[in-house]
Amino acid sequence: MTPSPSAAPESPTERKILLSGSRPTGRQHLGNYAGALAQWLDMQEECDCFFMIADWHALTNAYNDTSELPENTRQQMLDWLAVGLDPEKATIFIQSAIKEHAELNLLLGMFTPLGLVERTTSWKDLVIEQRIEEMRTYGFLGYPVLQTADILMYQAHVVPVGRDQVEHVEKAQDLAQKVNVRYGEVFRIPQWRIGNAPVLLGNDGRKMSKSYGNCIYLSETSAETWDKVRVMVTDPARVTKKDPGNPEKCSVWDYHKVFTPQDRHAEIWENCTGAKWGCIQCKKVLQEALDTKFEPVRERRAALEAKGDEWRNVLVEGNRKARARARQTMENVREKLNLFASDGSDNS
Ligand code: SF4
Repeated sequence: MTPSPSAAPESPTERKILLSGSRPTGRQHLGNYAGALAQWLDMQEECDCFFMIADWHALTNAYNDTSELPENTRQQMLDWLAVGLDPEKATIFIQSAIKEHAELNLLLGMFTPLGLVERTTSWKDLVIEQRIEEMRTYGFLGYPVLQTADILMYQAHVVPVGRDQVEHVEKAQDLAQKVNVRYGEVFRIPQWRIGNAPVLLGNDGRKMSKSYGNCIYLSETSAETWDKVRVMVTDPARVTKKDPGNPEKCSVWDYHKVFTPQDRHAEIWENCTGAKWGCIQCKKVLQEALDTKFEPVRERRAALEAKGDEWRNVLVEGNRKARARARQTMENVREKLNLFASDGSDNS
């Protein structure tokens, strides 16, 4: 993990608060696992974790059709729980159930210079460069402020991010500082942390994306997984088994780095660069590693699915815990900003 350069020295005994989440995109794929879930599993052991299903964020580009949201949320929750996110250790909640996020979003909006949101990479890319008119909305422009509200609500010390998301935590740092300078220590300044896992490509060599149909899902059977692994794009220089390969030019190698036990990495490297085995043999090693790791996950998922609404109960309890923390934060925010308290008293 690479922490923000500005991170304050950490006390070894303090349990850090961590906020992370993702939009409800449905079944989780191996890229989701490598990029987020694997780190979350480690972090729930050492941090006070809040894992959020960011359904309001999903609306920034899906506001015209929300029909898939409930099923996507169910599928995502089944996968989160099946891989081992543990409601006894972490608070798993849904953003739209905690109305305080909307209130803090509104208040932070008052402090947000337009330039701060107009500089967001996705705004510049989709609205300014690509001129996608349906993305030119107040909600899409303002989503970094909502993300800031998500983070500051739980007074998070740490926000795990991909490299392309660091700018969001930097915006949260800027806004928190701005409020703190004017009104005292209202918010903890969050720090970003970047995971070391490689970004996994889809099995066609393009960015892994549901819309490209190139994802390998955690919930797929061994046979379904193999159908996708078997045809994964490899080093193009390896036309035949006799051509030496370069694992660094092969997306299968990135999968090995994440899923295949380290004690097999040298063997894979030597057999590839020395043209001692074919790519199918190499992929069978990967398939074996995936089966070892995900067969128990597939079983747990099937068992959870058979229990019907149990995943919902996890969310209900997580929402309760998240709401309690959010209410504390907002009472403090209202008091510091000289607003009326939630019971109507004037905080003076
Ligand atoms: S042998 Fe393995 S690492 Fe080498 S090119 Fe083939 S699939 Fe990729």
